[in-house]
Amino acid sequence: MPNFYLSKELSQHFEYEIHKDDCLYLPDEKSRKLIGNYKTSQEALETVLKSTQHVNGCFWCCNSIHHGRIPFINHKK
Ligand SMILES: [Zn+2]
Repeated sequence: MPNFYLSKELSQHFEYEIHKDDCLYLPDEKSRKLIGNYKTSQEALETVLKSTQHVNGCFWCCNSIHHGRIPFINHKK
């Protein structure tokens, strides 16, 4: 199972990004924190959502959870 990381810096869309450990765009060690070891990016996302809703999957390595709109967030207005 891959490790997933969360960027420490907000993206231009004011979100933290989730990356897999083999992503080309993985932030360097100082700019990321380990989320944990998960089977799917969806599980990593659910873990991060417990602490912040400002999160998005990386377009390149976590495409299945990447979008401008994460369902959880959409319900809130
Ligand atoms: Zn990535």
